[in-house]
Amino acid sequence: MPFISVKNLQKSYGALDVLKDVSFDVEKGDVIAVIGSSGSGKSTMLRCLIGLEQIGGGTVSVDGDDMIRDGKYSSKEQVKSITAKMGMVFQNFNLFPHLTVRKNLEMPYRLMHREVDEAQTHALCDSLLQKVGMLPKADAMPAQLSGGQQQRVAIARAMMLSPEIMLFDEPTSALDPELTGEVLGVIRQLAKEHMTMIVVTHEMSFARDVATRVLFMDDGLILEEGSPEEIFQQPKNQRTREFLSNFI
Ligand code: ADP
Ligand code: MG
Repeated sequence: MPFISVKNLQKSYGALDVLKDVSFDVEKGDVIAVIGSSGSGKSTMLRCLIGLEQIGGGTVSVDGDDMIRDGKYSSKEQVKSITAKMGMVFQNFNLFPHLTVRKNLEMPYRLMHREVDEAQTHALCDSLLQKVGMLPKADAMPAQLSGGQQQRVAIARAMMLSPEIMLFDEPTSALDPELTGEVLGVIRQLAKEHMTMIVVTHEMSFARDVATRVLFMDDGLILEEGSPEEIFQQPKNQRTREFLSNFI
């Protein structure tokens, strides 16, 4: 049984069918790179999975539990317990601007884990900031940090809630080129630790190196899916070839 199974996922905004019929599986330990043109539905797909958008139709199950089956949602409690297994990192970091780095990590955690005391929360926060190389900035405000530093904090914040899968929506596309490496480095490290991840990205060399599988999305459909070798060296679909030719 796959860890996540998505079948015939659909989503429309009014008359606009943004996700037409999206199906794929995610196994534990997979690093799935999602590539495709702007407007093809990549962000919407991630937002549907984590519950930020209402799904219009299809089936999503996680760890054997249905979030939605044939367009019918499970109970609010079940949906919440499923989406709690996921962490997400956004293009624009989305840190709380009025909170220090430490409070950005600790505040959401304390809301979820009232039983954990302050010392344990600090210890967990410190270990995650250490992991992303941001412990020296624990008391800084987000505005005092570079974009790359903010994004590393955002990754640590998502990791605080012990997700079983991390969703990344173009985590480096708002960064100056010289800052993308430090963020991709953190994601590479998570991959080495066998974190299950779905990464929407335009960083093709990163996708080629790190992904276990690549999905090419176009106009609300997954047009092609395969290993990095298959997608980057022998793309079968004409649209995939056209898309990839923009990156040479
Ligand atoms: P991508 O992430 O691949 O660039 P998106 O998922 O952001 O694509 O968007 C897919 C399509 O859905 C686009 O045509 C976009 O304009 C539209 N869209 C996204 N969000 C909304 C929304 N909240 N309301 C209406 N249309 C939206
Ligand atoms: Mg997007």
